[in-house]
Amino acid sequence: MISDKQKRTDEIIKRLKKEYPDAHCALNHSNAFELLVATILSAQCTDERVNIVTATLFRKYRTPHDYLNAAQEELAQDIKSINFFNTKTRNIQAAAQKIVENFGGEVPCTMDELLTLNGVARKTANVVLGNAFGIASGVVVDTHVARLSQRLGLTKETMPEKIEKDLNEFVPQKDWVMFPHRLIFHGRAVCNARKPKCGDCVLNDICPKIGVVQEAGILTPGRKGAKAQK
Ligand code: SF4
Repeated sequence: MISDKQKRTDEIIKRLKKEYPDAHCALNHSNAFELLVATILSAQCTDERVNIVTATLFRKYRTPHDYLNAAQEELAQDIKSINFFNTKTRNIQAAAQKIVENFGGEVPCTMDELLTLNGVARKTANVVLGNAFGIASGVVVDTHVARLSQRLGLTKETMPEKIEKDLNEFVPQKDWVMFPHRLIFHGRAVCNARKPKCGDCVLNDICPKIGVVQEAGILTPGRKGAKAQK
């Protein structure tokens, strides 16, 4: 028997597909390694800021060897407008080293292998697998996906890996790569963190609006805020 939650999830997917037919990965990249670097940089930072930095970065550093051979201070300078640039510099260079030493200079294409790279957790691995290799390994959970999934009643969890588990259960695997992009587009355009435009939302009639403060000042039951990474 199909559950109400499954039916609602299917309807959400259908409407968002229609609303955002052109949704895509917001991080500019031309290969798997660039996407890996961009995704590491994007933690706690906007995609817009990352794209500004990588426009120059990817012209200067083209391969894992280039990052590995760079002086740590120089790479840190090149990404200094990004939050936590010192930690990210170390992670990118350590990941580049492992890619060179353990994977023949190519970004690996399995979850287990990607998780061996510094600075790579499930979210980053899902982004790379889904968008660079076309492998649906799980739903990417960033701060938009976490917020919308909670408001839409698709999860009660706050930790990204638990949210992903809930979404993986109800979102068909064929939609795992595109569904988060569409949620992110919707989060930016309509379901903002501070002031969701429920009156303009295509999901209004099927959204329980968990945790959303309505104009009447009523707080619907649910959890506020997500602890999800970026
Ligand atoms: S109805 Fe409101 S809370 Fe629900 S998805 Fe739309 S904007 Fe977000």
